[in-house]
Amino acid sequence: MRLTIIGAGPGGYETAVAAAKSGIETVIISDGHVGGTCLNEGCIPTKSFCRNAEAMDLIANAETFGIGDLSYKFDFSKVLERKNSVVAQLRSGVEGLLKHKNITLIRGNASFKDAHTVRISSDNPETDGQEISSDYFIIATGSHSATLPIPGNKLEGVITSKEILDIESVPKKLCVIGAGVIGLEFASIFRSFGSEVNVLEYCKDILPRFDTDLAKRLKQALVKRGIGIETGAQVQSIERDGDKLVVTYLKKDKEFRVEADKVLMAVGRRPNTTSAAIDAAGIEYGPRGVVVDADMRTNVPHIFAIGDITGGMMLAHVATFQGKLALKAILEESGMCSNGDEARIRLDIVPAAVFTKPEAATVGKTEDECKNASIPVKCLKSFFRANGKALSMDEPEGFCKLVVAEGSEAYAPGQILGCHLFGAHSADLIQEVASLMNHNATVAELASTVHAHPTLGEVILDAAHTAL
Ligand code: NAD
Repeated sequence: MRLTIIGAGPGGYETAVAAAKSGIETVIISDGHVGGTCLNEGCIPTKSFCRNAEAMDLIANAETFGIGDLSYKFDFSKVLERKNSVVAQLRSGVEGLLKHKNITLIRGNASFKDAHTVRISSDNPETDGQEISSDYFIIATGSHSATLPIPGNKLEGVITSKEILDIESVPKKLCVIGAGVIGLEFASIFRSFGSEVNVLEYCKDILPRFDTDLAKRLKQALVKRGIGIETGAQVQSIERDGDKLVVTYLKKDKEFRVEADKVLMAVGRRPNTTSAAIDAAGIEYGPRGVVVDADMRTNVPHIFAIGDITGGMMLAHVATFQGKLALKAILEESGMCSNGDEARIRLDIVPAAVFTKPEAATVGKTEDECKNASIPVKCLKSFFRANGKALSMDEPEGFCKLVVAEGSEAYAPGQILGCHLFGAHSADLIQEVASLMNHNATVAELASTVHAHPTLGEVILDAAHTAL
């Protein structure tokens, strides 16, 4: 049995390795570096920048730690070098994983010729024009940055999250359009690098899909760091004025202008439905992406789709777990053995993080979602300023909000339905609550779990204790 996977991002390559280990002859086709957006121009290079930003913030705050005047020269080329070397190291790790005896990696672009065959186009004459037929396909071709359809959107200096990772120098003035995850992460990073940063957001609050309490507190923290954030801002146009870009926006019917050296467009991502010629295979899709069922199967029964191309939660870890579901369906249908663990995968419990300073993280339902769905809940809060480790780290900013069921037909009294964290290392802390939620744990079970002291994790325990 042969499985062909198109795209070698976290969805594609992890599924290829798992399929190969299950004994499936697996072909994976990648038209770029293996690792996809996440590894090459997303999560990983951004985290490398984040670490540099953290180092700069510590140096800027050196006096707090009794360290006197620290004069230094900030060499941005070293930031890029370090980022490139982190990416290269991880990329070679992925290439190593794909050297499995059951995997053939083809470098090139795959287009469906019909529902059973893809054709490769490549610079390599050995693979260019090659046709691959397969019993099953998984499409994992990802997404691309959206652009606002406004005048000036193609001007030089108007960039996306891809280009900003290879920017030649730190812009003096950076204007970010969109206060979603990408916009805020880069706003935070470049503020630490010394840019004057202005963020323009269309909605009435930042991070529209996050808990409103969390979004408000994060906004306050970012503003305190000197980042300008305008919400309810309708961006109209971008113009060039000499060596500057000028972004014009409307707020409450009044026109405002922001000057910038670079403008970052961070207004969402769109599924790559035009790549791979999926029309030729008769695959159903819309503006939100390829339509799939709970097994990640498209309308063409032997073709599956996973990750950003399916729209929804565009997160690397979601793509990976969707790949596990698709592979399980393929294995079962082919009379092969899956280990059954996939039955426990809960795609309604997906932690997500925003790597700003301070970090924010979320899992499960927000308070507003529960209200709108008439789920009776109470919210339990605790604060980083009361946590010994946070104070020792000089990271007093932050809070934890647990959303807990009052008890209803659907949820047991005390069942944890969500957690919203803001503060140092929130992205790491959220995993504990995600694990508990996967087991439908109650807040009493969390409160009776011994936590090490002194740790930031005790912030979550403190929130749970407020229920007792
Ligand atoms: P997003 O949807 O998170 O945010 C886009 C923001 O742009 C929204 O707040 C939206 O209201 C705003 N916007 C839209 N039109 C606008 C306009 N005309 N003017 C001003 N603002 C406007 O999208 P993103 O930040 O581009 O991220 C894309 C995807 O990548 C998301 O699904 C995100 O979760 C994912 N991602 C995740 C991480 C992470 O997990 N840390 C990091 C980066 C990206």
